[in-house]
Amino acid sequence: MSPYRQPADTRAPDVLVCAGLDPSGGAGFIADTRVISELGCRPCGVVTAHTVQNTTGVVGSHPYDPEIVGHELAFLLTDVEVKAVKIGMTGSVDIARAIANALQLSAARVVWDPVMYPSRGDAPLMDEGHAEAMHVLKPHLTLVTPNKHELFMLTGLPTGTLEMAEAAANELAARLDTAVLVKGGHFDGDDSTDVLVQASGQRDELRGRRVQGGEHVHGTGCALSSAIAAHLAHGRELLEACTLAKAYVANLIENPVRPGRGAAAVR
Ligand code: PLP
Repeated sequence: MSPYRQPADTRAPDVLVCAGLDPSGGAGFIADTRVISELGCRPCGVVTAHTVQNTTGVVGSHPYDPEIVGHELAFLLTDVEVKAVKIGMTGSVDIARAIANALQLSAARVVWDPVMYPSRGDAPLMDEGHAEAMHVLKPHLTLVTPNKHELFMLTGLPTGTLEMAEAAANELAARLDTAVLVKGGHFDGDDSTDVLVQASGQRDELRGRRVQGGEHVHGTGCALSSAIAAHLAHGRELLEACTLAKAYVANLIENPVRPGRGAAAVR
């Protein structure tokens, strides 16, 4: 071995990020890599799409060239052994396909946050191909973390209440043979209970406190999925990774930053 190459077990685990670029740094690739570093891992990755956004919202979205993304990933994964993967905004079904092809080179557990629309602004962050993107990513997925709108788009089932969303998540888990995390922060109530459902039918509740105004903080979904990937990279089981990540994000939501005139962000 090269004297410059440190053995993987003596350094921070590598986590692969495939995500869109939010130039404001509140979500997407920049936020993901920040969270992953903060949790003791070493981020590496590819940008899937460029977005035009500041803290007031998203006004443009431009998926990157799928061939380049695929080439970058294949070249990276034939060299670096990543311990977990976080996929966020893919932007187009062709990029989802490029990611899925490259993931054949990795055995790492994969968390997918199926980003489709921004909470501020109306430039869609995904083309019409979300059902096909889900299909091509399916063999690689360990966990999907949709918000209630994304869960509706992926299943066609109503997700208006936590109970409805859990039923839709069970259907999605069965279809994809993967786990699905229903995020309670998107629903009314005094607390914020997430539900982790597995294809086996196992169901676990993750209890948490509701942070007033937390639903208006930008980047919570990105931070949560990245934190779960970081904990998986450290070798934790899925339920423990989700529990630790939820507590970490609750703390971020309680202490948001305000980099511009618009929304607060988790980091
Ligand atoms: N931009 C990018 C690149 C993202 O990945 C995301 C969400 O994951 C967003 C924008 C939207 O973030 P929010 O839902 O906080 O508006």
